[in-house]
Amino acid sequence: PVYLDYAATTPVSPEVLEAMIPYFSQHFGNSGSNQHLFGWEAADAVDEARKTIATYFSVKPASILFTSGATESNNLALLGLLEHQTPGHIISSSLEHKAVLEPLAYLATKGWEITYLAPNSTGEISLDQIKAKKKPNTSLVSIMWVNNEIGTINDISSIATWCTQQGIICHSDATQALGKLDISKAYLPDLMSFSGHKIFGPKGIGALFVKANTPLQARQWGGAQERSLRAGTLPVPLIVGLAKAVECIPQLLNSLALLQAKKLDFEKALKASLGERICFNSISENQIPHILNFSILGVDWEKLFRSMPMLALSNGSACNSKSTFPSHVLKALGRDDETALASVRISMSHIYLQEDHDWVVNYLVKSLEKLIS
Ligand code: PLP
Repeated sequence: PVYLDYAATTPVSPEVLEAMIPYFSQHFGNSGSNQHLFGWEAADAVDEARKTIATYFSVKPASILFTSGATESNNLALLGLLEHQTPGHIISSSLEHKAVLEPLAYLATKGWEITYLAPNSTGEISLDQIKAKKKPNTSLVSIMWVNNEIGTINDISSIATWCTQQGIICHSDATQALGKLDISKAYLPDLMSFSGHKIFGPKGIGALFVKANTPLQARQWGGAQERSLRAGTLPVPLIVGLAKAVECIPQLLNSLALLQAKKLDFEKALKASLGERICFNSISENQIPHILNFSILGVDWEKLFRSMPMLALSNGSACNSKSTFPSHVLKALGRDDETALASVRISMSHIYLQEDHDWVVNYLVKSLEKLIS
């Protein structure tokens, strides 16, 4: 099958794998062992990796905390910041990933009031909406940079700049922005989550960027790793892999124009053959080119996926794939349950550019035509 689910996860790139291998068994030391060479080598590798990532964003190395992935980064950001504070008000959106929505739901049980902004019809959240909902006790704004199901981009730099002016902490889940949008020179929010496995790095590693003076507290306790904010022996090979993946981001960004052309090909072919039976869920201009999301009206979603066995596609968020609930993102866009369930997300990467694109487009269109005929 042809893999078209790069927003769910990516393979580890050869460069990343090569960088990681020596740290599994040759330089296997514990970066916390500061009494011998094995530990020093590991600590040096972690320092280098932290510097590489910090350099990419032009920030201080100490502002990068390693975690197990974006889920943990989001939990640490939201709960580490707020759980020890007197409950106040949070502004977020109904389009966030579950890794933000669930910690927010937990904070709600602790007395926090949460405003979930609804997106406009193309899936964006605007700064004006945030301004309109600000209260005297708003402590945090948490808005994702790029949505994982429909690929819409939010203007996080403007939102973060406004938050700084207002003295409100800003968090952004940048998991789907990194490697798909050049955020290296953007004004960054106070807290920003990202993950290795979405950018051709390994699974099980991610980071939380924490701006200086952000009052973050630990959520897990043990050793004094990561400035005592995230205890646990550091997974040196994964950290080295994450840094290499970040270093390779410019290569990923080189393929944006080619991917945009492929996305248009898909759109045109689908529109031409399916007409009224297709509803595009990713229709904004303001989007990463990697993601195309559409629904086929009037079909059962299980039949829909069984009709295209040669394509590895997703229906909405892969993290929700065990549930048959309609995607909360498509519901937030105003789709009804049936339309939201019969949705297909194509997500590409530069690797897809090596596939026989004409064959893929043709196979997709023919399979769908057969299904609705
Ligand atoms: N946030 C977004 C926007 C995502 O797309 C994902 C991945 O599915 C996550 C968070 C979770 O990331 P991880 O798998 O690194 O925990």
